[in-house]
Amino acid sequence: MTHSSIWHPFTQHGLGEPIPKVTHAEGAVLHTEDGARVIDAISSWWVTTHGHAHPKIAAAIARQAARLDQIIFAGWTHEPAEELAAGLRAMMPSSLTRVFFSDSGSTSVEVALKMALGHWLHRGEERHRIVVLDNGYHGDTIGTMSVGARGAFNRAYEPLLFDVTSIPFPYAGVGQAAIDALEAACRDGAAAFIVEPLVLGAGGMLMYAAETLAEMRRICAVHGTLFIADEVMTGWGRTGTLLACEQAGIEPDILCLSKGLTGGALPLAVTMASEPLYAAHYGTDRGQMFFHSSSYTANPVACAAANANLTIWREEPVEQRIANLAQWQAKRLGKLASHHSVRDPRQLGTIAAFDVGAAEGYLSDLAPRMLAMFRERGVLLRPLGNTVYVMPPYCIGEEELDMIYDAVSEVMDLVG
Ligand code: PLP
Repeated sequence: MTHSSIWHPFTQHGLGEPIPKVTHAEGAVLHTEDGARVIDAISSWWVTTHGHAHPKIAAAIARQAARLDQIIFAGWTHEPAEELAAGLRAMMPSSLTRVFFSDSGSTSVEVALKMALGHWLHRGEERHRIVVLDNGYHGDTIGTMSVGARGAFNRAYEPLLFDVTSIPFPYAGVGQAAIDALEAACRDGAAAFIVEPLVLGAGGMLMYAAETLAEMRRICAVHGTLFIADEVMTGWGRTGTLLACEQAGIEPDILCLSKGLTGGALPLAVTMASEPLYAAHYGTDRGQMFFHSSSYTANPVACAAANANLTIWREEPVEQRIANLAQWQAKRLGKLASHHSVRDPRQLGTIAAFDVGAAEGYLSDLAPRMLAMFRERGVLLRPLGNTVYVMPPYCIGEEELDMIYDAVSEVMDLVG
């Protein structure tokens, strides 16, 4: 074990687990200090959509860093941000006319929540309550923990969290209980409903029907409750379409994007809003402006990386890669489905997941045991409790994906 002063996230250092040092990476492959080659089966926390060190993104970063590295964004602008805003407007749902920049998935959600409450305040309506879906995850800041599932991740911080209305997860069919609970909350004047469309990521790769999502959107529209789609994980093609919302044929009032926005190379996020949100903050009263920023808002280098990501989407066969990956995942997951250790295999687009053994929650001892076994086999997989999921970069080849699943099958034999 390396003796380092670094305190790692989501890591129990007292267990003395090894922390490999990565020296470089390309495509879907990581290289470690000891000369090992590791397949990145989770796109490095779901961000690296086109693979590591994509030459177009690397070149864009280098060019921009040498030209304009950083500039205050309150009252100033720059070409990479203007280009990115225009590019996003062209690619994303047409009702999302405004682009607000921040630095991470969590901040994109914090911004969405603040926009929603600001909107109601400036319109002179008393709407404060946020509605959430059970098992959701939206980040680790105070606001995002408040709208996420309560449990191991935030038990110690409970006194800091605000109260929300939680509706049941729609496990099967249309999920009438979820729909009814949402309708009741909206009728009571809820300010906003925040949801991860179609797949709840950190909550255990839980998947639900597009019809349910469409119905949720419809109910919010009827009652004027703002619909916030957190596509931080599902966005940028993860579920098979650019946005998961597309599969339900819906457009949100507010959209949160991060992770694959820069192809996973640099931290950046956007919160895209429909015109009424902007209009509610617009006027000559300085007290009505949107009070949110961070030092690095719309950092030019990160924006340049995001513009390169948009170029890749326009110029490279990204959709074809996604379709291939989805097909290979279906083939290998289908073979694995009959394994006695595998429960509830599920897939949407490039995301494949299944459960192992009894559900014991995130702190299940099985997770670190499996993680170590995957690592020994040259694969980066990081189970969420007893949920194993495979979510590689879109550039992965079928042979590399086979290597991941060979490792998964071996580990299933050992834990079963
Ligand atoms: N929202 C969703 C759906 C996520 O999956 C995540 C992170 O995994 C976040 C928000 C938070 O993003 P970040 O870790 O970049 O703050």
